[in-house]
Amino acid sequence: MSLPPNPPTPRDAAPAAPRDGVRAEGRINLFDYDRMGLRDVFAQLGEKPYRADQVMKWVYHRHVTDFEQMTDVGKALREKLSAAIQITPPNTMFEKQATDGTYKWLLGMDGGNAIETVFIPETSRGTLCVSSQVGCGLNCQFCSTATQGFNRNLSAAEIIGQVWVAAKHLGNVPHHQRRLTNVVMMGMGEPLLNFDNVVTAMSVMRDDLGFGLANKRVTLSTAGLVPMIDKLSEASDVSLAVSLHAPNDELRTELVPLNKKYPIKELLDACLRYTQRRARTTITFEYTMLKGVNDQPEHARQLVKLMRKVPSKVNLIPFNPFHGTRFERSDEDVIRAFQKILLDADVLTMVRRTRGDDIDAACGQLKGQVMDRTRRQAEFRRKLEGGVADAA
Ligand code: SAH
Repeated sequence: MSLPPNPPTPRDAAPAAPRDGVRAEGRINLFDYDRMGLRDVFAQLGEKPYRADQVMKWVYHRHVTDFEQMTDVGKALREKLSAAIQITPPNTMFEKQATDGTYKWLLGMDGGNAIETVFIPETSRGTLCVSSQVGCGLNCQFCSTATQGFNRNLSAAEIIGQVWVAAKHLGNVPHHQRRLTNVVMMGMGEPLLNFDNVVTAMSVMRDDLGFGLANKRVTLSTAGLVPMIDKLSEASDVSLAVSLHAPNDELRTELVPLNKKYPIKELLDACLRYTQRRARTTITFEYTMLKGVNDQPEHARQLVKLMRKVPSKVNLIPFNPFHGTRFERSDEDVIRAFQKILLDADVLTMVRRTRGDDIDAACGQLKGQVMDRTRRQAEFRRKLEGGVADAA
């Protein structure tokens, strides 16, 4: 029997390594496929599409990973499926709860790597912050993940597996007992540099047979890879957040080196195109407040001008410090004054409440554990500079 290959890994970064034993045993991991992909797998096995749908419900609605427990699937088929498919979520190395209820999982990947996933409970919603890469190669100056460098892309299974681990822990049942209402791709890594796997995982997040989240409740956050924003707009229908952090190119290039390749004007044009394809969408611009760096009234006024160009809202993130950083968090009154300038100019602006900082689970504090980063980091930079990311 020949099964379809696992979904392709993008060529712009190191490929996702299979979990130990996955392909050695010749079995594919169910978590690597969205509904259409899984139906193809079932077709290859000579089975009807509805069987794939049945299995998805067991996995995502009832958190069952053993075919033997799928009682509405006949014994012969259960055996056939077990021989071809495994259902292997990431392995939880440890979990921790912050005093404010924020929850963090450290999930072990292969070769000593680990990534972090964070759940943020609020009165009317529960948001899961999901990682897309082991480490990150973009080198944003104020981000702790950047200090670790880049190791590799996560597979689709490792991305959707983070949601599955959290959903199981929370006893989440889509459409009935909804604990997990939003997913933000704002953990470790740059999701647009792991495009195919991220799109597959986001498809399961939004599928009724998966986690059943509305499109607007799944948000992808990017540091601003312009060509990939256009590609996303063709492939998916999720909310877009853009890490802006500075209102002019000089400062932004310093803070987010990717700006050199895709400066603010090009970025905003891509954002505008994204909103035009999707009626009524707005882009959320993230702006980390760094004391004395980007938090002055002049910066706010420049930001107002930029925000006039795109249907947008602004999310001010008080900087979360980490060991060895040269930045500090802006003072509360400075953040409020900055917000007021934007609000007075009719730019919808929120200040993100810092959550989970006693367990290092706040934005930009996720570290995981990254091994063997040096060679891949250099490779990644070369490719990015050579424009491979554009072509992916
Ligand atoms: N690579 C994606 C997702 C990463 S992190 C992106 O750049 O959007 C999600 C957000 O947290 C980004 O806006 C990021 O710039 C911000 N962030 C990173 N480090 C931070 C820190 N130390 N304090 C506050 N926000 C931070």
